[in-house]
Amino acid sequence: MNHFETQAIRNQTERTQFAEHSTPLYLTSSFVFDDAEDMRSSFAEEKERNLYSRFTNPNTTEFVDKIVAMEGAESGYAFATGMAAIFSTFAALLNAGDHVVSCRSVFGSTHSMFTKFLPKWNIETSYFKVDEVDLVESLIKENTKILYIETPTNPAVDILDLELMGKIAKKHKLIFIVDNCFATPYIQQPIKFGADLVVHSATKLIDGQGRVLGGVTVGNKDLMREIYLFARNTGPAMSPFNAWVLSKSLETLSIRVEKHCENALKVAQFLEEHENVEFVKYPFLKSHPQYETAKRQMKLGGNIVAFEIKGGVHAGRAFLDRIKMCSLSANLGDTRTIVTHPSSTTHGRLSEEDRLEVGITNGLVRISVGLEHVNDIIKDLKQALENV
Ligand SMILES: *Cc1c(COP(=O)(O)O)cnc(C)c1O
Repeated sequence: MNHFETQAIRNQTERTQFAEHSTPLYLTSSFVFDDAEDMRSSFAEEKERNLYSRFTNPNTTEFVDKIVAMEGAESGYAFATGMAAIFSTFAALLNAGDHVVSCRSVFGSTHSMFTKFLPKWNIETSYFKVDEVDLVESLIKENTKILYIETPTNPAVDILDLELMGKIAKKHKLIFIVDNCFATPYIQQPIKFGADLVVHSATKLIDGQGRVLGGVTVGNKDLMREIYLFARNTGPAMSPFNAWVLSKSLETLSIRVEKHCENALKVAQFLEEHENVEFVKYPFLKSHPQYETAKRQMKLGGNIVAFEIKGGVHAGRAFLDRIKMCSLSANLGDTRTIVTHPSSTTHGRLSEEDRLEVGITNGLVRISVGLEHVNDIIKDLKQALENV
């Protein structure tokens, strides 16, 4: 099989009679049949072909095929957003009365799904904290069906041991699902460590340029079949336009992620030396509490750096106010460097106790390091830090 970079570029929809070099955009909601028999056998799934774009479309198929290859999966399905991928995956696989075990450090809307929406169908979730992996097995019950994690976590950039989680899931016959959004398949392939399914928000580093929303689930083909049937009937499909954009983005994923990570490591090293910084969290800094695990399962450290500014909430807000070039925005994984202060913004409505459960200290600043020249990024952070 070809290398990662080559697959990202050369896995391509079959050329049309026009012999185009780059994949065209297939903006069509449906597809035509030759005759009654062609239509019957197509709907009976006796042949693999496109019927209707809620089911499949050449652009979404190209995008999914690339992610399947990159993650070492068997099959996949593309969704309108990352949350549509996550919700549909859970909704397809769980029955009323089932139970989920998850790390507490999950994306905010995933947390809302676990605590506000899944309970409507009598599906409960038990959480463990990132430093409580010893407790995982004690949380598993007779009706537990899924073990769910994100690594690195958002926004505190903690690392969970994929191999360990994979072993626990296997021992207890759980479906092991990993949100691999922060790492991307270029840095980490959870299926190698025992994940049954991998979910992504393609909105982040996969697009990488802050343009379109998207999500994808890939993995075991029997589980994907259930997810596909759920999605094909309930309608969370990715639009062909977004799939076309995202498939193009994948062609440059490897070089973008390499540069993001190179810049992020330099930013982390700069911050670690700064007198107004209490501590820095970056997976590939030796000071990271799970540095050894990160080195084992990740090819590079990722593009997210978290640090604690001295002076708590006040200093965090003052830092944001002094930033000149970097963007204040809720997105991440963009070419543009983005800084956020979770305790006063995205997580501002949580109590301090709840924030601390996910590692959000008062002065925690999250940086999604972009692709500007690293000296310019550091210059901006430096002047903002010096004046707080
Ligand atoms: C953004 C994000 C999501 C949700 O993705 P959307 O595309 O915004 O729906 C899920 N998980 C993680 C880790 C994310 O960063």
